[in-house]
Amino acid sequence: MSHFYIRCPNCGPRACSEFSYNGEVRPLADPAASEAAEIDRLWLRRNANGLQRERWFHAAGCRRFVTITRDTRTNIIVAQPGEPAGDVATHA
Ligand SMILES: [Zn+2]
Repeated sequence: MSHFYIRCPNCGPRACSEFSYNGEVRPLADPAASEAAEIDRLWLRRNANGLQRERWFHAAGCRRFVTITRDTRTNIIVAQPGEPAGDVATHA
């Protein structure tokens, strides 16, 4: 596993090994959406080959969640917690 750092807003820059991956950011539920669309939202993942918005849990630190944008090909974080996400799709 390659190594990268996440800038936790509470603890400062920390190795990714202190965090646990919590998955892709998904859109909030839409009460007007069809049942099929809701099933897709809950169960389908983009599994992006490139930029992806994702949640990480600082398990060995403050135990809070942070949201980052990471390039899954290089593990380079293009938006640390609190930074604008940019033009990144969050769902297929
Ligand atoms: Zn922290």
